[in-house]
Amino acid sequence: MAFITRFAPSPTGPLHLGHAYSAILAHDMARAESGQFVLRMEDTDPDRSKVESATPIQEELRWLGLTWDGKILGQSEHISDYNSRLETLVPQGLLYPCSCTRSDIRSTLAAPQEGVVFNVYPGTCRHRSMASRKPGDALRLNLAAALDLAATDKLVFIETGPAHAGTHPIDREKALKQIGDVVLSRKGEDIVAYFLAAVLDDARQGVTHVIRGEDLFEFTPIQVILQHLFGLPTPIYHHHRLIRDDQGKRLAKRDDARALSKYRAEGATPADIRRMVGL
Ligand code: GLU
Repeated sequence: MAFITRFAPSPTGPLHLGHAYSAILAHDMARAESGQFVLRMEDTDPDRSKVESATPIQEELRWLGLTWDGKILGQSEHISDYNSRLETLVPQGLLYPCSCTRSDIRSTLAAPQEGVVFNVYPGTCRHRSMASRKPGDALRLNLAAALDLAATDKLVFIETGPAHAGTHPIDREKALKQIGDVVLSRKGEDIVAYFLAAVLDDARQGVTHVIRGEDLFEFTPIQVILQHLFGLPTPIYHHHRLIRDDQGKRLAKRDDARALSKYRAEGATPADIRRMVGL
């Protein structure tokens, strides 16, 4: 079986030990399967992505001894493609425009419920037609309509990561309660949601195995639903453990203290980094 996996950082800051773990794991799994390891810069968010972060990322991956196959895919170069793919869902009645602000949504929502990943949208604009779309409106997925359209037996994914290994059918009621009508294109037109761009690009890059952090496990059902709507294959998922700091908190890119560059500056070798992340 073909094995193509990817490392898809958002270039919003320096790589830290958690990224190193994710990249090395995906790279080594691909090489062990005589497969491919591809790279993608998830730089669709102009407010957060920093051009200057993308180059050091490549340099640091090379330093770690990782090699990748083919050209690096930069998502910011494909924005118009994501938007036109999104428009293909319009005739099926799967999208609606939304002008709610974060505080509109917060004021309608009750206290966050346990197990709810997103601030599930209360549906204020669900009655609106696409014809009422105004500049600056976000586009939301009508999840109930999407699930009505989907062959439910196809809404399933296989997970091989340690915490959730097994087959995961997507439960309609749970999806409606825990995911809801997600935003696929944000205000300002050109900013597509991470879920959408990642799904389209996993298919574009022929990814057969998505290897990524455990923190993204809860996003998988919405990605599987989108794959189904766009007629794309569902890869096998492997969500790996997270590298945490001494307080047990997940590392984030803003945690400069754990930046790879810092360890390098202190004389660490790639072998030291592998050891530090337990590989
Ligand atoms: N760009 C995401 C991040 O840096 C990863 C997305 C994914 O692996 O699906 O957290």
